[in-house]
Amino acid sequence: MTKTIITLRKADLTLGSAAASVHVLKSMDLDVDAGEAVGIVGPSGSGKSTLLMVLAGLERLDSGEIVINGQALHNLSEDALADFRGRNIGIVFQSFHLIANMTALENVAVPLELANAKDPFEIARRELTAVGLGERLHHYPGQLSGGEQQRVAIARALAPSPAVLIADEPTGNLDTETGRQIADLLFSKQAERGMTMILVTHDISLAARCSRQIRVRSGEIIDDGAGAPAVQVASV
Ligand code: ADP
Ligand code: MG
Repeated sequence: MTKTIITLRKADLTLGSAAASVHVLKSMDLDVDAGEAVGIVGPSGSGKSTLLMVLAGLERLDSGEIVINGQALHNLSEDALADFRGRNIGIVFQSFHLIANMTALENVAVPLELANAKDPFEIARRELTAVGLGERLHHYPGQLSGGEQQRVAIARALAPSPAVLIADEPTGNLDTETGRQIADLLFSKQAERGMTMILVTHDISLAARCSRQIRVRSGEIIDDGAGAPAVQVASV
């Protein structure tokens, strides 16, 4: 039995000012099953990042519906949306988005602490160790390589055990070998946790590792096809 974890219905969004507006998402429909790894590809400016922001609850639709893990996001207040996001969705960006004046440990623990998680520093230590940074807990982002910084960002995203991991060009700022290691880490975490992953990438070989590949152009899904087998989700 598979369970639908993400539903978009006629998702529509225009950004910018009235004088210079862009119709970024055009009545988009999408269903994602729990445990799928969805690779999204498409030209620059086609709306990939905006779609991820909508799925992450960081950008609201003008019209249409979005339901994640049974929760309709379009109806939620800002506070409820932030709370939902913190518990259900992990996000990894191309440029890491770490806080420069916090150590690796603090970057992972502080968001947990703000969300009133139990033992935030213990969880952070465990997550960082699990991404290979057990020896880098007290380093600041500026003292870490790009690959290490992305590992911290991944540990931070995974720490609340989100149902959905969203990654926007997670290897885009890394050299080929480091990018491959980060991709390996993401796919192994996804399989280990039976997580749903939505991954935007320019790297066709990376998209090909996903269980499903979606091609976006000008705010529309123009192709949606199966790839590698989805991971098995035992408990839904
Ligand atoms: P992609 O990630 O596929 O490169 P984006 O989702 O970043 O595409 O952007 C899609 C389109 O929306 C682009 O034309 C971009 O310029 C436009 N856009 C994105 N964000 C904004 C914004 N805040 N205001 C105006 N236009 C925007
Ligand atoms: Mg983008």
